[in-house]
Amino acid sequence: MIFREDVRWETLKPQEFLARQAACPVVYLPMGLCEPHGHVAPFGLDTIKADWLCDEAAHRFGGIVAPTMNYHVHETGYHAPWLEEVMGGVNPRLGALPPQVVFQTLLYQLRAFRNAGFRGLVLISGHHGAQADLRRVVEAFSDAFGMAHFVRTDPELVAGRFTGDHAGRYELSQLLAIRPDLVDLSRAGRVGTDPLGRFAQNPDVEEASADEGTRILGASLDRIGQAVSALDLPDIPADAFLTLSDVDDLWDRFRVTQGDWVTLSAG
Ligand SMILES: [Zn+2]
Repeated sequence: MIFREDVRWETLKPQEFLARQAACPVVYLPMGLCEPHGHVAPFGLDTIKADWLCDEAAHRFGGIVAPTMNYHVHETGYHAPWLEEVMGGVNPRLGALPPQVVFQTLLYQLRAFRNAGFRGLVLISGHHGAQADLRRVVEAFSDAFGMAHFVRTDPELVAGRFTGDHAGRYELSQLLAIRPDLVDLSRAGRVGTDPLGRFAQNPDVEEASADEGTRILGASLDRIGQAVSALDLPDIPADAFLTLSDVDDLWDRFRVTQGDWVTLSAG
């Protein structure tokens, strides 16, 4: 979901793209996922948070927002018992991909960013859980080819000040601040009567408020702003170009580390 067309790779024309990039060669990658968020909220809540934070951060701190990655890791490893407990199994309305698909895709997305002339990456994921592995992928790329980076999920941005949740007070407060028209708290009670049951809705969802959402989002943006100004952007020759096979080789080296991936581990 695009909130600010003047910072988006999709909606910028070459002149404005190059001017923004020259002023701040940082690219933001919003990552989200369509998954159940209770009866009160749309499936894409994680994506909407990430899109809004990236658009607003680029507007305030400079840089350009890349096309959103709207499929994410779920179902595997430690996610499986969570889904069993909260959903009664894997919900079919879930846009999950296997970790190796997401991580391989991310490597080639980073290649595209690097070849386009970006020297710093801010990756904000609205879906929590795979962040340790996402950082691993980005670090592998950065070690090989150079890219300053900051990779966080939204609850990590406000750790110690607010507590993240799934489809509860924390997440719904943000959506009430960003897109109140997409929230219907009058449906909160359906968890007891609807055939879909709880549908992953958190019991404290009715405590959500736009004011709290505004505070959460403000604190998140402050943290992103600190990170952008702290990025140590590497010097990359203007004619540097990574081929597909450059990244094929890196993926071949990365994929054999999957015994260490959090998203494939049970605990
Ligand atoms: Zn969520």
